[in-house]
Amino acid sequence: MSHASPPSTPVRTRFAPSPTGFLHLGGARTALFSWAYARHFGGTFILRVEDTDLERSTPEAVQAILDGMAWLGLTPDEGPFYQMQHMDRYREVVAKMLAEGTAYHCYSSPAEVDEMRERARALGQKPRYDGTWRPEPGKILPALPTDRKPVVRFKSPQDGATGWVDMVKGPISFDNSELDDLVIARPDGTPTYNFCVVVDDWDMRITHVLRGDDHVNNTPRQITILRALGAPVPEYGHVPMILGPDGEKLSKRHGAVSVMEYDKQGYLPEAMINYLARLGWSHGDDELFSREQLVAWFDPQHLSKSAAQWDPKKLNWVSAHYIKQSDDHTLVQAVTPRIAARGGDIHRVDLTQVVALLKDRAETLEQLADSAMLFCGAFEPAAPELVTQHLTESARLVLKDFAAQAATSEWTRAALSALIKSTLSAHGLKMPQLAIPLRVAIAGTTQTPAIDAVLEILGKNTVLGRLAQI
Ligand code: GLU
Repeated sequence: MSHASPPSTPVRTRFAPSPTGFLHLGGARTALFSWAYARHFGGTFILRVEDTDLERSTPEAVQAILDGMAWLGLTPDEGPFYQMQHMDRYREVVAKMLAEGTAYHCYSSPAEVDEMRERARALGQKPRYDGTWRPEPGKILPALPTDRKPVVRFKSPQDGATGWVDMVKGPISFDNSELDDLVIARPDGTPTYNFCVVVDDWDMRITHVLRGDDHVNNTPRQITILRALGAPVPEYGHVPMILGPDGEKLSKRHGAVSVMEYDKQGYLPEAMINYLARLGWSHGDDELFSREQLVAWFDPQHLSKSAAQWDPKKLNWVSAHYIKQSDDHTLVQAVTPRIAARGGDIHRVDLTQVVALLKDRAETLEQLADSAMLFCGAFEPAAPELVTQHLTESARLVLKDFAAQAATSEWTRAALSALIKSTLSAHGLKMPQLAIPLRVAIAGTTQTPAIDAVLEILGKNTVLGRLAQI
């Protein structure tokens, strides 16, 4: 089926994370694709927290998901909804299916089901529930045990096949004979995972499901249940996983997997969005694009069938681009707390000038803050070897001359640049013969950004004060 023309019904997508840890990179990318798809078609993006696994779900993990999405700017149009708040509805649908005969009570104990599976395996068949309690016309069911509560099983179709045209992978089909009669409610009545997904996708009128391809095996089960309910079946797209640089599934071993860790490390959310979008989706050769362009261009035809590889160097390249093109005011706000966290004095110099000077060579806000410490941190005089090497007798004379003239100079980058040049020609020197001693004297190091800019930002008092110490 073609997706070139807009879908006929209003698009409704959802991101449905299980809150069992951080919002990891794979999850964030799924959220981004679902968000971009909805935005592209002017549809609705829904956040649904799948928190029914009480042992693994935590409020901290819910918060981590909300924080991660807020940081990335992936704002849901509806939700967050919580599956734990839908329990009555799931029970209602279980009851409806029992009444309609699309589900049945099964009294086989877990041990008995294990035995059935073993028997099937011994016969070289796929391990499965053998249908003991599955009602069929004319079939006599075993006597009801009085000592146990039943599970509810879905009466799965046994003939034919269940398939769909995956938005990413193309046609996929499973023989129905491979699908067990899935347990949809446990003995205590609590619904199981696939069933909750189905009921919510139905109730939320989800039209397009984009999710990780670890869910491919769940899809035929979800489709057969939706059909049994007479519910519309959404379109599905299963996105391949993200691999680490070594080709293994991306994991902690490869560094940070939590999205918020990238905030800590000083990546801008726009850079993450751009980078994540390119992990498994493309628009021609475009590597850098805005959020608006992503939305305008996003189509599932260009989602890749093969797994994407995490590339920290490329992320840094994308990140450097976003830092460079950020406006100075925004960068000042983003970098100020990071400078303060390093013990820097955020009031000593004009931070707008600092970021304007440094942003072209920083890959992250952390690097920007590190470099800003040249202006905001405590002055560390040069190491003795540097002093001996660069602050020679003759260099000191030149620096003194420079300082004397600087004392009466206008304090702008242009005026300071002119003063450097006139000092050079007065003493018959080349640029490094003044610039390097000057750096050692005022910054304690031989390497800084453009010396005239550094002088300007440090300010007259600081520069003259440091030059007086040599
Ligand atoms: N809760 C599932 C997960 O976090 C996603 C379910 C879905 O997208 O259908 O893997």
